[in-house]
Amino acid sequence: MVRPTDKTANNRTPRELNRALVLDLVQEHGPISRTNLARLSGLTKPTVSAIIEELLDSGSVRDVGSESRGGRPARLLEFNDDSAAYLGIEIGVEQTAVAVADARGRTRARLEQPAVLRDPHRTVRDVVELLPKVLQLAGVPRKRLRGACAILPGLIERPSGVCVLAPNLGWERFPLRAELSRALRMQVPVYNLPQAAAVAEGELGAARGHASYVWIYVGLGVGAGLVVDGRLFFGMQGYSGEIGHCRVADDGPPCGCGRRGCLETFTSVMALRRAAEAASSRSSALAALPRPHAVAAIASAALAGDEAARGIFHQAGAQLARGIGVLLNLLNPQLVVLGGEAIAAPDILLAGLREELPRHAVRAGEVPVVASPLGSEAGLLGAVLLAREGAVRSLRLVPDGVLQDSAP
Ligand SMILES: [Zn+2]
Repeated sequence: MVRPTDKTANNRTPRELNRALVLDLVQEHGPISRTNLARLSGLTKPTVSAIIEELLDSGSVRDVGSESRGGRPARLLEFNDDSAAYLGIEIGVEQTAVAVADARGRTRARLEQPAVLRDPHRTVRDVVELLPKVLQLAGVPRKRLRGACAILPGLIERPSGVCVLAPNLGWERFPLRAELSRALRMQVPVYNLPQAAAVAEGELGAARGHASYVWIYVGLGVGAGLVVDGRLFFGMQGYSGEIGHCRVADDGPPCGCGRRGCLETFTSVMALRRAAEAASSRSSALAALPRPHAVAAIASAALAGDEAARGIFHQAGAQLARGIGVLLNLLNPQLVVLGGEAIAAPDILLAGLREELPRHAVRAGEVPVVASPLGSEAGLLGAVLLAREGAVRSLRLVPDGVLQDSAP
């Protein structure tokens, strides 16, 4: 999967690398014999057997009987989905959601409750209250939890995990990592939403098999998760990917950041609502909708053929091209994936984007731009995967930047 830091592979001992390899092979190919593991891994049979003893002891792998095809029966091993569980936490503008996944990273249960804005301490208490409920729903005892990760839409300082600014949550300089880690009595690293969504997209979605891609969030704000050569790119303090505040017009609308003409004043949920209000005088479909316009309702009008509504998404796509063009020129990614609630009529928005992109990037036509197949769950799925990634590496005794750099 996409690795959060570049420290780990280099720091692993050969023994740790071999153990990770064998565990991955059991997960992918089990039930499988030691002989076949040796064949697939290229390791010697005694090495594989020693690793398997360790994995059996830790419960990560279990013996599921023997297979006999003439000759001596071979014991078969399988990955134990119940050997660990991971907690993902998504702090959103509408709701606070938690999910529990099994050792494989598959979601077992999910719960949410309405967000309370401008009160981060209350949000932390909400997460504490949701935890036993979601564990019960998943049928998972607390002691099985091996890792957690939280995400939110805002600037997260690394390595401290302080939420420096989340305008849409009404948060400023809140030590989220420290507060959650203390309240849940476990390490809870914090990422921003596009970074986590990018990880999920690489593991489960449109970016599988890609080493360099960009995940663009278009919701209340606009931001990007950057994956470069198989790793999330954070920058000096973790503030990479803030393309929503690229200035795309000299005299544009005022932005939450205090400047004018930022990309997100043209493409976010608020921008779509503003455009729908402005277009209501020439569209009876938009005029008839309740205020403020819901993005889903504008999208329904567009998909039903309303020209004004179609124009809104087409125009949002064309504006988005200005920000994406910069990223294409800078990073030369293999793929661009769009997600977030403003990507509600993706075909129309993508048509506007593709039309405009060549004006802002060289060789733009060679880079596919697609809507995320993961929908609104991308961020939470990413949080769960990042929770597992941090914990599995610590179980493998690998020095881990994510955990090391961020003690509460
Ligand atoms: Zn701005």
